[in-house]
This record gives sequence, structure tokens and C-alpha cells, in this order.
Amino acid sequence: MKSNLYNLIRFIAVIVTLLAVLAQYYAPKKQFDLHPSSITSHSIYSAIDPNTGRQSATWISESREDWACTYTASLEFGCGYSLSWGSDPSHGMDLSRYDGFKIKIHYSGSAERIRLFIRNFNSAYATADNESTTKFMSTQLRTNELDHEIFVKFSEFSVAEWWITENQVPRQFVAPEFTNIFVIGVDHVVYGTHRVRVEKIQLVGDWVKTENFLLGIIGLWMVILLWEGLSRFYRLYQRSREGQQLIVELVNSYQKLETEKNEYEVLSTTDVLTGVCNRAGIMHHIQTKYRPRTDLKAIGLMIIDIDHFKRVNDVHGHDVGDKVLISLVEIIVANIRQDDVFGRWGGEEFVLLCPISSISNFRGLADKLCGAIEQCQFGHGITHPITVSIGAAVMADADSFDITFKRADEALYQAKNSGRNRVVYAN
Ligand code: GH3
Ligand code: MG
Ligand code: MG
Repeated sequence: MKSNLYNLIRFIAVIVTLLAVLAQYYAPKKQFDLHPSSITSHSIYSAIDPNTGRQSATWISESREDWACTYTASLEFGCGYSLSWGSDPSHGMDLSRYDGFKIKIHYSGSAERIRLFIRNFNSAYATADNESTTKFMSTQLRTNELDHEIFVKFSEFSVAEWWITENQVPRQFVAPEFTNIFVIGVDHVVYGTHRVRVEKIQLVGDWVKTENFLLGIIGLWMVILLWEGLSRFYRLYQRSREGQQLIVELVNSYQKLETEKNEYEVLSTTDVLTGVCNRAGIMHHIQTKYRPRTDLKAIGLMIIDIDHFKRVNDVHGHDVGDKVLISLVEIIVANIRQDDVFGRWGGEEFVLLCPISSISNFRGLADKLCGAIEQCQFGHGITHPITVSIGAAVMADADSFDITFKRADEALYQAKNSGRNRVVYAN
């Protein structure tokens, strides 16, 4: 989605660039008419001819800008024609936003070249009351190319050396300058008779200077690429943040699941009523606790079954029966060691597994449990003693739990049959 946006923006930028290039090089240029126009006024000037006592330059038709002049060796200087705007040279025109002049001049005469000149005013080196202090810049036009319109670039103009010398101009001002031009003209610098008609002088330039145009295009692309780069970087950053967030959430939910799993594990191996192991818990202990320790002491196993428990329920109620189960568990837990495995096998039947150091210790424990239960006052209206029968067996090295359990169960059966409230040991 976002990469489509990048492609679209780049595509638009390519189109804009192409259109801008076409417009820059093929669209009509910026133009301004200097002559003929209402803002300019013309004049001709020349030296006084000593033979006639008159100016050597004369109008043939002033309204048509048509004039002539004869420049002889006896004259101090030649003659010229100028166009100016306004009377104050310090308020000229800024031509620097143009590239040059489109010029149409009609010439007849013997000169191979005529001079096109402009003057620039800058208070750093010029004074308004002395025109010769304004910067004189000129270029030479070949008369044989003047029969059609020509384009004269500003770069063709150079500053006259005599102006630099005459005004002792510091070096920082010797370059051409087009910011405050107040006069433009043509003059003759070779002897002979010249006739000139200036038909058109037009300023021509690009709407946007080439360097500004290129800078603009580069700027546009830099902005687009920078935006795209930053935007991509920000998206990556956001995605990595989201990724980190996701990892944290996954770790949290993993930990939660782990805790729940442990809780369910405990629940699934615990008897809800009495809080000791259930059958699954006992089996789990047998697998994890005793099996890898076959090198250790022998394991004693007891199946403890409450005598006539059905009667307790029948006489005192099921809830009292539950309390008896809980109390009986408390008595047994109080008499065994932490290392022993004790749990409810089902109903009113319990299993105890304990490492034993001697058979007599084991027998002692069984008798102790039997006696402790018989001695206990269970309360809840139970007046007769509650007793248990215990079937006991010792797990030999090679025996599995199942075999030992079977033997203990047979012993329990015997205990029940031989009067209950006793311990019977399997052979
Ligand atoms: P015996 O001396 O032969 O073992 O007789 P008994 O009555 O103890 O044995 P029987 O198998 O006939 O009855 C077991 C009774 O244990 C039946 C049942 O109601 C009771 N019982 C089993 N589980 C629970 C329990 O969780 N709570 C209560 N209150 N009673 C239970
Ligand atoms: Mg019973
Ligand atoms: Mg039973």
C-alpha cells in the first residue's frame, strides 16, 4: 500500500521534471521591449566638423530612428546613437534577470563592425553628474550580419579598458555588471560615412535562470528522496517497535501458559478433598522419585483402607464422611517423613510409599499409623473408634510397583478378612 504511494510520488515527480525541462527550454522566453517603446528616448551625438561647423551626425528621419554620420580623421571622436530611460542615471534598469538583447539594426556604410554599448550605474564607483564614471561595457557587431535580427548575449559584453584606467577602478568592480543599466547605444569607431537605423531592441531571458531551475529540480528530488527515506526509516522503526511489543506479549503469554500448565499439573495430581496426591500424583512420584533410585534402600508400600466407611456415611452423612477423610489424612501426614509419598488411591483407600532402612522400622510405622487412627477422636457425633486395615509389602529390587501393589492388596484383603483394624504383611 505504502510502496504504491512512493511509486506514485516518484512517477509524478518524473512527469513534473519532464514538463519543467520542456517548459524551460521550449516555452516562449521572457521578453521586454526596450525599443520602440514609450519609456526610452533617443539621441545622437558626434564631434563638431571644423569644415562645416556643424555636428557630423544628422537625422535623416528622426521618427524612423534613421541617422547618418561622417567620421573623418580630422575629428576628435566618431558619432553615436543612444537610448536612455529617465533622466537620472542612478535609476537604471536591472537587466540581470535577462540573458541578452534581440536586435534589428539596418546599416549601410564602409565599416565592418559597429559597437553596441551599455552603461551601468553603481554608486561604488560612479556619480550621477558625471556620465564618464558609469561603467562602459561594449561588444562589436559585424555589419554584414545586421541584415537580419540577431541575438546578443550579455556574456559577449566586456568592460572597456580605458574606462578602468581613466577612473582608476578597483579590481572588484572591473567585471561586467547589468543590475542598473541606464543607457544602450550604437556608435562608430572607424572612419567613414555610416548610415544606421535601429529598428528593434528587445530584452530576452529565461523565466527561471538555468542554475535556479537545476537547483529547483535537484531540490525537488532531494525533498522527495529525503521524505521517502525518512518515511521508510520511520516505518521500519515502527515495525521493529511492534515486533518488540509482540515478542514481549508472546513471552508474557508463554509465562502465563507455563504458570497455568504448572497449576493444572498440580491440580491434576492433587486430590481436591484432602490436598494430598491423587492416584495420578502417586504414579508420577513413583516414576520420577523412586524409579531412578533403585540403588537406594528398599521401598515399603502400604495400602490403607478405612474399615466400614460406608457405615460412617450411612449413619452420619456424606459430609461427615468427607471430614473423616480429611482428618485421617492429617493424622497420617503427621506421622510420616517428607521423603515419603502419600496419596489417596481412590474412595477411602490410601497408599503410602516410604524408603525403609529395616523391616522392623517399616512394621513399626504401620502399627503406629493403625494405632494413631484408632486412638483419634474424629468428633462430629462419631463415638465409636474409626479404624483402618493396612496391607503392607516391601518392594524388592527387581519388583515393579504393580507386583508389590498386588501383594499389598492381597495382604489388605487378609487384614479385612481376619477382623480389620490391623496390619498384614505380605510375604
Ligand atoms: P470395608 O471395611 O470392607 O472396607 O467396608 P467399607 O464400607 O469401607 O467399604 P466399601 O467399599 O463397601 O465402601 C466404601 C465406601 O466409601 C463407599 C463410599 O460411599 C465411601 N466413599 C468413597 N469415597 C468417598 C468420599 O469421597 N467421601 C465420602 N464421604 N465417602 C466416600
Ligand atoms: Mg473400606
Ligand atoms: Mg475400600
